[in-house]
Amino acid sequence: MTFVVTEPCIKCTYKHCIDPCPVDCFREGPDFLVIDPEMCIDCNVCATECPVKAIYQDKEVPEDQLEFIEINRRLAPVYQPATNIKVDSAEKDEWASVQDKRHLLQLPEPM
Ligand code: SF4
Repeated sequence: MTFVVTEPCIKCTYKHCIDPCPVDCFREGPDFLVIDPEMCIDCNVCATECPVKAIYQDKEVPEDQLEFIEINRRLAPVYQPATNIKVDSAEKDEWASVQDKRHLLQLPEPM
């Protein structure tokens, strides 16, 4: 099993989840974080740290967020290892409350 980052993280990326992860499995792109499913040890530490509740165990992902299981799997090899450099900005706070933003996520071509 793995944990999965879902839509609330897009353009929010507060990064509270990164440091507590014991196996450094977060990856980051321009506006989103993902979890590498090949590395996650299913410990649940990150999900409790996320202030926007974007992280779920794969078996608990809400139905309207199920596509993010595949999105995490596809983006993990493309994104870079996540840094813990946090940017406190009003823009992030605004995006934290936006519900519908998956259309803003740039995805690689289907494999
Ligand atoms: Fe890392 Fe644990 Fe979260 Fe998996 S569940 S991403 S191992 S903190």
